[in-house]
Amino acid sequence: MYLERFRLDDRVAVVTGGARGIGLAIAEALGEAGAIVVVTDLDGEAADDAAHKLADMGYRAEAEQEDVTDSGAVDACRDRIVARHGRVDVLVNNAGIARSNIKAEEMSDEDWLAVVDVNLNGLFWNCRAFGNTMLEAGKGNIVNIGSMSGFIVNKPQEQSQYNASKAGVHHLTKSLAAEWAARGVRVNAVAPTYIETELTAKYLNEQPELRTHWLAGTPMNRLGQPDEIAPVVLFLASDASSLMTGSIVSVDGGYSAW
Ligand code: NDP
Repeated sequence: MYLERFRLDDRVAVVTGGARGIGLAIAEALGEAGAIVVVTDLDGEAADDAAHKLADMGYRAEAEQEDVTDSGAVDACRDRIVARHGRVDVLVNNAGIARSNIKAEEMSDEDWLAVVDVNLNGLFWNCRAFGNTMLEAGKGNIVNIGSMSGFIVNKPQEQSQYNASKAGVHHLTKSLAAEWAARGVRVNAVAPTYIETELTAKYLNEQPELRTHWLAGTPMNRLGQPDEIAPVVLFLASDASSLMTGSIVSVDGGYSAW
């Protein structure tokens, strides 16, 4: 009775930036719950590989090349998916990039714009495109991947544009939730701590001492894994969270508690 509410049988679920890392784990979780998962990514071949991996696991999966920063391409991607399936039930806005160790006073226009373009603008283009389809259907569910960086300022690396973009994701989540709740579309976000993916590996390889700083700020004294974010996204994407909208769920090992 209760576990059934976590099922997504035959629902069409789109995961942006789903070719690897947290997005791929989310795609696996949604596939295991019964969804038809559409993995989109900037790298179309990587999206194809991910969809094949999911199919090998016995899940229904498809791939789409999608650059989230190109609003026309986002609309076209939505149109192709709707042409195939007639609907989109779940959208997970996962695509995101980080550029850290840039002092605010030295930040170039390019370093500011690149991060905001993917993390905030791209997320909005997807919410707008897929949200329209969901509003027409009178139902749908959006889960945005924010970050604890939307609540706290990371230490010691300077990354003001990333932090501001994720705070924007959190408040955009609440704004859309309030606008769309009465029309059947829920919008929530997940705010992870440091998760071991290629995104963090790059920094940890260059500066191994970062791990010590990061653990010192984490009550659980460890970094997270992609498969610890995916079940929370599944919960928010499913009817198990039917009364939730506009929530930003921290999955941060206690980081924001200190
Ligand atoms: P990864 O770098 O491992 O994966 C990100 C994926 O997004 C890649 O497949 C990448 O494709 C894709 N992507 C990048 N730019 C675009 C674009 N313009 N259009 C479409 N896809 C794009 O990152 P994570 O898995 O670590 O992060 C996923 C999300 O989680 C991000 O939003 C991140 O900010 C957030 N997050 C991550 C944390 C962490 O510690 N890892 C902590 C908190 C939040 P390609 O390889 O082709 O560039």
